[in-house]
Amino acid sequence: MFKTNENTLFVDGVSTLELADTYGTPLYVYSEDQIKRNLNEIRTSFLQKYPNTHAAYACKAFCTIYMCQLLNQEGFWIDVVSGGELYTAIKAQFPPDRIEFNGNNKSEEELLMALDYGVERIVVDNVSELYHLEKLCMKNGKKVKILFRITPEVSSDTHDHIATGKKDSKFGIPLNDEILYPLIEYTLKSAAFEFLGFHFHVGSQLLDTKSHLSALEVILDLMLATKQRFDYDIKDFNMGGGFGIKYTDSDRPLGISDFVDPIMNRMNEFCRENNLIRPHVSMEPGRFIIGDAGIQLYRIGNIKEIPDLKTYVSVDGGMTDNMRPGLYGAKYDAIIANKADDPKNSVVDISGKCCESTDILIKNLKCTKPETGDLLAVYSTGAYGYAMANNYNKIRIPPVVVIKDNKAQLIVRRQSYDDLIRNELL
Ligand SMILES: *Cc1c(COP(=O)(O)O)cnc(C)c1O
Repeated sequence: MFKTNENTLFVDGVSTLELADTYGTPLYVYSEDQIKRNLNEIRTSFLQKYPNTHAAYACKAFCTIYMCQLLNQEGFWIDVVSGGELYTAIKAQFPPDRIEFNGNNKSEEELLMALDYGVERIVVDNVSELYHLEKLCMKNGKKVKILFRITPEVSSDTHDHIATGKKDSKFGIPLNDEILYPLIEYTLKSAAFEFLGFHFHVGSQLLDTKSHLSALEVILDLMLATKQRFDYDIKDFNMGGGFGIKYTDSDRPLGISDFVDPIMNRMNEFCRENNLIRPHVSMEPGRFIIGDAGIQLYRIGNIKEIPDLKTYVSVDGGMTDNMRPGLYGAKYDAIIANKADDPKNSVVDISGKCCESTDILIKNLKCTKPETGDLLAVYSTGAYGYAMANNYNKIRIPPVVVIKDNKAQLIVRRQSYDDLIRNELL
């Protein structure tokens, strides 16, 4: 994906300096080849290796019409979590029978939109949602396939803010016999539902399999209990996403096989031992598909040296185009793209231009001595960068370019100043 030539960083054969000249900075750049390589790993290590499985891209990581179309062509499913994401999928003509709908507070409008478009399955996140959805189904003469998102009560080895499987999590139905079993019984009897099974998502940026495997045990117990109590074979199990990627050299990500092989082996063994029908198994990775396929380009502006302390290197974007460092201390690596082969003998902090002291994109970056006007390329920004972009300080959201067949294609244009006041009435 990356090569340097004449001291310049290239992405799939396209010069980052030319990209910055043509489209301006800040700029999001994606490699379609890299997205396809990531999809291929999921295909070979999961979909083709194990029958009766599917993979849904967690759209929230980077949700655009382009991405929905690509995932559709590649035969993947998508997972949406809001009316806006569903709307994007609809505009991309994404087939409803490969859409799942997640989220802990789907509004009536969103649920109706999903029923209307005929999304294949809804992951019910809590008890009140179940009753609400049932009412809407009855009123509209619909029957939907549902899964229960379970809070598996596992903690994961990741930043607290992206751990989602703990007992006190806002996500999922509590792992409590008095809540769960009556709910399963109710669902099985309801004319509004086809009950598919269970879902968990234990956290994000996971670099080991511990939490997936402990959560799996919870699901296996539930599967068996559902069979014993209600004589019902679970049809579907969704292991969520969260498969970690490499942001900096200190990350040692696993492959998809490292996660799915032990899960599938344990699942198959458990079903054999207990005479259960092995359910359809699905996953919903986001960053694994898109994270390392994207970089961001920034122009370096003012440089502030505090003698004997540190050097701040400011760029023309920041927490408005990449919120993750400010939000939960996410770490990134970067390179000065117009000095790509020069020795890295400076250590600097890359700061954004927003009026917040947490707007520091990278702390202690080792790089070539930066100068105003240099181009900074930040790696692995494909997930949750553009997706979380915002207009704080009335800064415009940057454009998105995809490199495909060694050519750049603009897929999202830069916001204009008029876009920033478009909805203002007075
Ligand atoms: C965020 C999320 C995912 C994807 O997480 P990644 O870390 O991007 O793989 C999958 N499922 C659910 C329910 C999520 O909330």
